[in-house]
Amino acid sequence: MSQSPRPKKALGQNFLQDQGISRKIVRALGMEPEDCIIEIGPGPGALTRHIAEENPARLILVEKDDHWAAERAASVGAELFTGEFPPPEARRAVVCADALRLPWETLTFSCKIIGNLPYNVASPLMWEIFSRASGLRRAVFMVQKEVGLRLCAVPGTSAYGALSVWTQSFVVPKMEFIVPPQVFYPRPKVDSAVLSFTPRPEGPPDVPPGRLGALLHKTFSMRRKQLGTIFQSTPNRLELLTNLGIDPRLRPENLTPKTFHLLVGAGFFPRGD
Ligand code: SAM
Repeated sequence: MSQSPRPKKALGQNFLQDQGISRKIVRALGMEPEDCIIEIGPGPGALTRHIAEENPARLILVEKDDHWAAERAASVGAELFTGEFPPPEARRAVVCADALRLPWETLTFSCKIIGNLPYNVASPLMWEIFSRASGLRRAVFMVQKEVGLRLCAVPGTSAYGALSVWTQSFVVPKMEFIVPPQVFYPRPKVDSAVLSFTPRPEGPPDVPPGRLGALLHKTFSMRRKQLGTIFQSTPNRLELLTNLGIDPRLRPENLTPKTFHLLVGAGFFPRGD
């Protein structure tokens, strides 16, 4: 086995050193023998060894760093793939790729996803996974605590924003526990949080995700403005909003995910577009 390289900052490599916490994170996934488990960013394998111990029906590891991809392939007896998810017959696989570039929409089969996510890609990656991986049954992610708070924030709070609405449009997030910096090498500057996610029981919202995402980005860039002002260029906006039961004096930060879905369904889009 080759010597371990220095942790790479650009790949968000803060490696978990605590066996007890690793086990607790894996336990939060609620693994069952027939599961297909996908781990994002296994690195030196803090979570992987506890997942492999459970011997799930399928295990797919996604790692961008060639060194750790090769090491994990050797440790779990996996075949190496690049660029896409392996075929169904691959029971143990390592995909050496940038997780942000994987075709998450091809995960139509039942799967559970876990990862101590690299801080620099965590938000865009969860954005993709929650909206595209239709086979997702449960996910457990460790992220920076501040991101964790945004994921489960409720309307009217300062943490509530586009990521909160988007996430809660597809899944139900739950804060599991907080992890302090001293259990990582190298130590990050901030606390981390472990969250679990399950698909919304009523399924995804009946609106085009692209339009919802665009509306969220636009409206939250004006989070303190009233809806009546944000939708200034929409003809009859005050009447339309009132007919939908939405007060035009409300601000984006006060709207529930359901209200955003109503706005998309009614064809609302902010001024300038
Ligand atoms: N799972 C290990 C642990 O808990 O100690 C490592 C976690 S470390 C925070 C993040 C891991 O994600 C690293 O192994 C890193 O190389 C990998 N990674 C970083 N960016 C990635 C990307 N875009 N796609 C896939 N893996 C990535």
